[in-house]
Amino acid sequence: RLKEGRALAQDVWSIFNALNLPADCINLGQGYMNFPPPAWVTEAAEEALRTVAPNHYSHPKGRIRLREAIKKFYGPQLGRELDVESEILVTSGANEGQYSVFTAFLEQGDEVIMFEPFFDQYLPSVTFNGGKPVYVPLHPPAHDISKPTSNDWTIDIAELRRAVTPRTKMIIVNTPHNPVGKVFTKKELEEIAAVAEEFNLLVMSDEVYDCLVFDGKEHIRIANLPGMWDRTVTVGSAGKAFAATGWRVGWLIGPASIIQPTLAATTRIVFCTNSPLQEAAASGLEQAKERQYFEIQRAEYAERRKILVDVFDQLGLKYTLPEGSYFILLDISNVKFPDDYPFPKSVLGRGRDFRACWFIAMEIGVSSIPVSEFYCEEHANIGEAYARFAFCKDVDTLGKAAERLKNLK
Ligand code: GLN
Repeated sequence: RLKEGRALAQDVWSIFNALNLPADCINLGQGYMNFPPPAWVTEAAEEALRTVAPNHYSHPKGRIRLREAIKKFYGPQLGRELDVESEILVTSGANEGQYSVFTAFLEQGDEVIMFEPFFDQYLPSVTFNGGKPVYVPLHPPAHDISKPTSNDWTIDIAELRRAVTPRTKMIIVNTPHNPVGKVFTKKELEEIAAVAEEFNLLVMSDEVYDCLVFDGKEHIRIANLPGMWDRTVTVGSAGKAFAATGWRVGWLIGPASIIQPTLAATTRIVFCTNSPLQEAAASGLEQAKERQYFEIQRAEYAERRKILVDVFDQLGLKYTLPEGSYFILLDISNVKFPDDYPFPKSVLGRGRDFRACWFIAMEIGVSSIPVSEFYCEEHANIGEAYARFAFCKDVDTLGKAAERLKNLK
């Protein structure tokens, strides 16, 4: 299984890792923050480390304080009283949670539909578990749209319907979307939900960027649409919510029929998630509302987004304005670089965007992620037109990056 597709090729995060780039290169590649989590969140971890119990195994379902905090935070948004024993599962990051869902539900040869581009981890997570990824396009903005937004990346529901076969088990929805930043509309989610219902499919809804939605857009949870709770697992992440991507604390919320088999899988894969950081995540969710933490964070990210948007506008470069997440896709089709540049082997074996991103990192001093990584090999050429820049960095750093990016033209 490891040999199937691209699963064993070097992943983009390792190639464009800060460690492979010059020390003074500004990292807008892999999406992690260069500022600390809030002190009122990390203090809970410090306290936990000084206490005996949270230095040890938690229940495989997750520590009860975090499950209670998830219940209180998400229950009202999902319009239901969540059962902390059977409908919430804490996982070692959102990735591990999703992997465990695949382990629990995929039989050899089962098909999993994902919209392409897709977060790269889905592909190996599906194939390692014997599944077969099936791709449905998110169509890039039409060329005559001069200022596209992520909403101009569109789905054609007829294509989704045509992708369903008797082997289809699941559809992955990712909103806000990585790497496009698309916030799926209610209408789009209703159409996807109708297909899931008609063909009796599970839905994995990866909503790890749910707290980062801009321009007055609304984050819609597909689990909330009529009839969808019973077939949907919603994925969340403490890393994105609390600027702590290295904690590897995530969670799954869904009906017992999905959470219980997934609990069996996760128990045998990692047994449980690290305990002290679950306490920190719990503290974050407990206090977020009274501190207006997510509202403030959204405004901060909108300001960060503006710094990159302004420089791309000044340069007359085309990009997709993201309505959610912390990524911007820049059209790099016109960025020129010498063919005989000393590219490393890892980059030479891949698309033009890998070379362009490498060149931009080396010569402009700002790293980004080549977007063909988010496409299957057959469709990689579509992604070659884009580089993904992350704006989960402080304003100073983004300002310096913007200055450097002025040399792009
Ligand atoms: N989710 C992060 C991103 O897209 C990185 C994930 C990873 O490194 N595997 O940048």
